[in-house]
Amino acid sequence: MSTEIKSSILPDKNGYFGEYGGNYLNNDLKTEFIRIEKAFLDAKGDEDFNNELNYLLKYYAGRPSPVYYAKNLSKKYGADIYLKREDLNHTGAHKINHSLGEALLAKRMGKTKLIAETGAGQHGVAIATAAAIVGLACDIYMGEIDVIKEKPNVDRMKILGANIVVVKSGTKTLKEAVDEAFIAYSKEYETAMYAIGSAVGPHPFPMIIEYFQSVIGREAREQFLEQANVLPNHVVACVGGGSNAIGMFSGFLLDKEVNLYGVEPLGKGVKVGENAASITYGKDGILHGFKCLLLQDENGNPANAYSVASGLDYPGVGPKHCYLHKIGRVKYDVINDEEAINAFYELSRLEGIIPALESSHAVAYALKLAKYNQGEKILVNLSGRGDKDIEFVMSKMNL
Ligand SMILES: *Cc1c(COP(=O)(O)O)cnc(C)c1O
Repeated sequence: MSTEIKSSILPDKNGYFGEYGGNYLNNDLKTEFIRIEKAFLDAKGDEDFNNELNYLLKYYAGRPSPVYYAKNLSKKYGADIYLKREDLNHTGAHKINHSLGEALLAKRMGKTKLIAETGAGQHGVAIATAAAIVGLACDIYMGEIDVIKEKPNVDRMKILGANIVVVKSGTKTLKEAVDEAFIAYSKEYETAMYAIGSAVGPHPFPMIIEYFQSVIGREAREQFLEQANVLPNHVVACVGGGSNAIGMFSGFLLDKEVNLYGVEPLGKGVKVGENAASITYGKDGILHGFKCLLLQDENGNPANAYSVASGLDYPGVGPKHCYLHKIGRVKYDVINDEEAINAFYELSRLEGIIPALESSHAVAYALKLAKYNQGEKILVNLSGRGDKDIEFVMSKMNL
């Protein structure tokens, strides 16, 4: 199985997609990131590395995930809707794809530990899982408030052998967790690897994450053709940092006749702080060492991002998405909390699949597309399962 990225859009030698991306780190870390890039390019071309990764993806994570024709949903909404079932992966989402890749890359570089931060704990659980199977130590930085709020995921990470570092500074949430994880990493980078959770961060991480997630698009294209004999008219994925979407899109970027849609969370509304739609409402800015479209307050500082789906509430977004938006290859649009929750119930009740609230944004958008594109074929990346959201939805919706 070839693992080559099918899209022709790679970053330039400084890590830019158009004007977005790059690496704004200090010199020591920049040198380390150049080492990571070299190790990655070397691993990518190495049969043993790819065999080990593909073995884990197949026999450990359960790939390939199926493409499923959602016949009840299709009948009700009048378009043919297919779901790429990333919710069926081990640990319940696409995040395991890049987590396994990052862990194997760290091991190949002789590192003994993974360092990561987590907000709701989904990324932390996927990294803790990958660290366990690959045989690495694992420090997960998490704000004190999130540690209390996300107890089930904290317990999972502890069971998996991760060390939880409770961050008590500032707002005691994700932002400070990122800051402290990075400070720790800058002291330990000779023996540890930073494990980024999405297609974001300084070069080469967006490129590395895309490579590990491109398995989604590669499988989906082949599976779709096999079932439908044609390519889909429309491909839809939700965008937080952008890893599941870029993985899916990479399979179709060169198919000019396929319309691609990235769905951002509109949350409660259009005001600063009410949403996390970085491409739709952001302005050029630098966050966490890379340039992207960034939600900003009136002073130009990164704004607080909000979505009912905690996996989507990041004020920035992957640089390749910014570029794909700029050149018009992908259309980025928004879905609000209420529409996402409605789609969460529609999919649950019509198909017996409880989706993650993040993925529900993509499903909601597909239902809108169906209205104006009757009889056409829509492929949705169902990035994860909704078990983690059940308690929250029940408490909010009173149903
Ligand atoms: C984390 C997460 C997302 C958002 O991350 P991306 O990097 O944008 O893919 C989407 N869906 C699920 C299920 C997640 O856990």
